[in-house]
Amino acid sequence: MKKGLFPGSFDPFTKGHEAIVFKAVELFDEVIIGIGINSNKAFLFDLEKRIDHINELFKNNPKVKVQTYQSLTVDFCKKNKASHIIRGLRNSQDFEYEKTIAHMNEAISGIETIFFLTDLKYGALNSSIIREIYLNKADISPFVTSPDFLV
Ligand code: ADP
Repeated sequence: MKKGLFPGSFDPFTKGHEAIVFKAVELFDEVIIGIGINSNKAFLFDLEKRIDHINELFKNNPKVKVQTYQSLTVDFCKKNKASHIIRGLRNSQDFEYEKTIAHMNEAISGIETIFFLTDLKYGALNSSIIREIYLNKADISPFVTSPDFLV
């Protein structure tokens, strides 16, 4: 049973995130979407609604689970017996940032990170820009898996 953890803020969960999950289920028996809760960083979108929405989105795919966590990502991996961390890459900035974190995670725990490239059409999707668009009252529905969790 090969489990992978896809950690992130997912604030909001975008079509780019969804595409990474679809790629990851090809390799793993179970993919846990881990929403990291950081006491210094408030979420914009309601956490419970996001969890319900992600569960609804993958309700026909029993390989995909969603959980929240507050610990170090590698500790959450160990707790769930996930062998790998899953992350998505859009560009070279993502790569440089992710490389440092992946190296540190490997150094402290031995847990490797596996990267999937973004789909060509989602390369510009970025949760923080989507939050800005939303805060300025423009339509974010083309970028997110459903606007339902915004209600
Ligand atoms: P974090 O705050 O941990 O970066 P995010 O929710 O922004 O969390 O992103 C979670 C993961 O999804 C990261 O690996 C990020 O690079 C990846 N990701 C975000 N948007 C996309 C996208 N459009 N295509 C592919 N991967 C993405």
